[in-house]
Amino acid sequence: MLFPNYLDNFASRIFYGIIMSNSTKYIFVTGGVASSLGKGIISASLAKLLQARGYSVTIQKLDPYINIDPGTLNPYEHGECFVTDDGAETDLDLGHYERFLNVPTSQANNVTTGRIYQSVIEKERRGDFLGKTVQVIPHITDEIKERIQLLGKDGKYDIVITEIGGTVGDIESLPYVEAVRQMLWEFENDCIVVHLTLVPYLSAAGELKTKPTQHSVKQLLELGVQPDVLCCRTEHPLELGLRKKIAKFCNVNLNAVIEARDAETIYDVPLLMQKEELDKVVLDKLNFSTKSKPNLDQWNKFLENLKNPTSEVTIALVGKYVELKDSYKSISEAFIHAGAVNRTKVNIKWVHSEKITSENVEEILGEIDGVLVAPGFGSRGISGKIETIRFVRENKIPFLGICLGMQCAVIEFARNVLGMKDAHTTEIIEDCKYPVINMMKEQKTISKLGGTMRLGAYKCQLVPESNAFKAYNTDLISERHRHRYEFNNEYLEQFEKTGMKATGKNPETGLVEIIEIADHPWFVGTQFHPEYKSTVDNPHPLFSSFVKAILSNKNKIK
Ligand code: GLN
Repeated sequence: MLFPNYLDNFASRIFYGIIMSNSTKYIFVTGGVASSLGKGIISASLAKLLQARGYSVTIQKLDPYINIDPGTLNPYEHGECFVTDDGAETDLDLGHYERFLNVPTSQANNVTTGRIYQSVIEKERRGDFLGKTVQVIPHITDEIKERIQLLGKDGKYDIVITEIGGTVGDIESLPYVEAVRQMLWEFENDCIVVHLTLVPYLSAAGELKTKPTQHSVKQLLELGVQPDVLCCRTEHPLELGLRKKIAKFCNVNLNAVIEARDAETIYDVPLLMQKEELDKVVLDKLNFSTKSKPNLDQWNKFLENLKNPTSEVTIALVGKYVELKDSYKSISEAFIHAGAVNRTKVNIKWVHSEKITSENVEEILGEIDGVLVAPGFGSRGISGKIETIRFVRENKIPFLGICLGMQCAVIEFARNVLGMKDAHTTEIIEDCKYPVINMMKEQKTISKLGGTMRLGAYKCQLVPESNAFKAYNTDLISERHRHRYEFNNEYLEQFEKTGMKATGKNPETGLVEIIEIADHPWFVGTQFHPEYKSTVDNPHPLFSSFVKAILSNKNKIK
């Protein structure tokens, strides 16, 4: 099973000594001093430790921007847009939550200011507020509180961790902090606040400085929120003297001042937090049992494989947003998981698709062991992607194309094997002569851009003996989508006769979901995004098989 259900196992909960509580507990994670301190990773690590003790946990992200969701944001703005099974376009932190917890998230796990306001305004138009003036307090804060408690409602989770995006003190995060203040007041025994802050090192003074942390806690206090736990990001050890100082100035217990040192990999963070006893401190504060010890056997096995590779491969990731690596976060993490299963260090060579031409492709990709052509939208960089695919197809270099990457493989094959020189996708040339990729009928009438693609999980039937079938070892799979255009089935027969086969199809609509070339070491294109479902506990079968194919191809060449 891809996502084992930690929640239903009553026997194991008894075994772990978890006393059933009738109310869900809430942990709020706020950030201070600076952005990018890693609230998402701290939240995911804490959740992992609690889950490993047998608690059922989910994590939610509240984003203070006005977009309804990040689906319409350029990846340069906000990194990758992560897609859930239920088709929500969400913040990339949800990817971390799933990769750490191995439990799927949903629309309810990511809420933006835009969505909060949209919902309040819709209610106002419906007349739900009985002629009252609609205000930030209580209407917006009530809506925020409702969204937080939605995840705790049906008793599915013992603990909901809510990460508040942004930094304390930002104007736009004020309503969220106010909602937290109200919840702390209303559910005194069921809520705590973990504040992530920075303890910078001043090299000229040779010292760690606690003042920024003191100030950011003061800022929280001004808003009526007393943090219970402080996680202090630091490049150097946080000695006892400093911990005492922080505890005293910020009204927190000494054991609740947690050192959060920079780690070699994000996957070390749960273990570092365990050493600091973050999970124990949190459970004590929530009056939950700390009897059980976290079972991190599988996690440790993964780390052991990750840190002791016996071979190495280099894979080119060809895309147009490579300057901001967060744009391809789930792909690079999926390679880390796939590398660990194969005990292989996977190096990624980030290649800008706009830079590739027929003249330089050999020079850029000649020494590469495998190539992934990334998803994307629009025409920028598309000719470089097509040129890349011609090169890997002709030179028999293992290839994985995702979404636009798969569509480019279809276009390349049409042009260079089927002789359809003007083949293209109608996304780029609407009236092209050979529209081998075109828009689904239902998409043609849509005029809005947000949330209108084929989104979320769809089933896919695999052809026996195909590389996809060998990877999944089953014939019916479910994968997540985010696109408007599809393989044009009018051309399928011609493709199949000439060597490019549809090895995965949607069983209901017949839409092509996977293409492969058999006469090649490993050439697979997927219309869906396999990267979204790769986790530490369940590395994605296609990524694992791709790395395995690269290794055996490399050995053959030797
Ligand atoms: N632009 C393509 C489409 O909409 C591919 C999308 C993607 O790569 N996610 O179909």
